[in-house]
Amino acid sequence: MSKDHGIATRLTQLGRDLDGSGVSVNPPVYRASTFVFSSLAELDEAWKTPFSGRLYGRNGTPTSAAFETAVADISGAHAAVACASGVAGIMAVFLAFLNSGDHVLIPDSVYDIARRCAERTLRRMGIEITYYDPAIGAGVEALVQPNTKLIYMESPGSGTFDMQDVPAIVAVAQKHGLRTALDNTWATPLFFRPLTLGVDAVIEAATKYIVGHSDAMLGVVACNEAAYLPVRMAVQDMGAVAGTEEINLGLRGLRTLETRLARHQASALKVAEWLQGQEGVRQVLYPALPGAPGHEIWKRDFSGASGLMSFELPPLADGALEAMVSGMAHFKLGYSWGGFESLILPAHPENRKVAVWKGGPVVRIHIGLEDVDDLIADLDAGLRRLRFA
Ligand SMILES: *Cc1c(COP(=O)(O)O)cnc(C)c1O
Repeated sequence: MSKDHGIATRLTQLGRDLDGSGVSVNPPVYRASTFVFSSLAELDEAWKTPFSGRLYGRNGTPTSAAFETAVADISGAHAAVACASGVAGIMAVFLAFLNSGDHVLIPDSVYDIARRCAERTLRRMGIEITYYDPAIGAGVEALVQPNTKLIYMESPGSGTFDMQDVPAIVAVAQKHGLRTALDNTWATPLFFRPLTLGVDAVIEAATKYIVGHSDAMLGVVACNEAAYLPVRMAVQDMGAVAGTEEINLGLRGLRTLETRLARHQASALKVAEWLQGQEGVRQVLYPALPGAPGHEIWKRDFSGASGLMSFELPPLADGALEAMVSGMAHFKLGYSWGGFESLILPAHPENRKVAVWKGGPVVRIHIGLEDVDDLIADLDAGLRRLRFA
């Protein structure tokens, strides 16, 4: 397959046998712990390429190899490593690059479970953590210590969608010989390719848009050459490999990813524009919206936007938020996002330590694949309940 083909074309073809005659459109799903060999010589030979997907299930299968190859291609990566969840990918990156006594820089707008992993496990391993303002850009250099090993990023950040100046941060990391990693779940490899800007390892919670149907947990880390083996070994050592059925759902999700994201993006932009004009909405936090925080960086570095955003409300009377979010027709209350369905959830930026949130309550919404007019009507009714509560 040619890299000259467009990404939608590649997404329909990657990981498939395109030359076979009489083969199924989709490759068979390998359910395997064990691959068997007929001679010791062949078994020994297989050990020479232990991650080719033909040795032992924990090392991978042809199904995981197909998924990893596809993600690596669309990410501009040397290779990708599938794992059990987005969080498994985050922990794999931490373990790959950090040793006892090292120091890591993490944005204060980081996904809250990544913060929990760092606080609960990295601290116990004797790893020092500094949280930085996601708006810091090149200023991150002032936080680099002699024992700093990794600058972790997430752009846009969780809850308030703070954009990071990735090229400026990567330049600092390269100057000091530090590794960089970025959680790219919001943009997916379709809309942002941090490896092309010099980031070493890019985490995708495939649970979200790649699987796309809210029915599986899956992670994948796209790596440059230097990061690949350390990340692969970390996933192996945790035993945090993904199940074959989940990987197959990820591969299936890739086929429609471009089409789904186009719809998520178009609807989200309409909702964001509408929300911006509503009484009682202080600001819309969606980097693709002209005038929104981070819009300039988004325009410079990203080629699109997904369907997740937040909006800030003024201080509310008791019960007002409850009145709004509990009575929605289409936006259900639930964690996660990236599926075909719309979701709503209060965000909690007030937990930040460095980039302290001084605004009002923040509500996060995921714009699903429903008719956008139905979603706007639902939000309109919700905002009216909020005002009258
Ligand atoms: C959901 C999420 C994750 C974690 O993914 P899981 O598959 O749920 O473990 C990581 N990063 C971000 C930004 C997320 O939203």
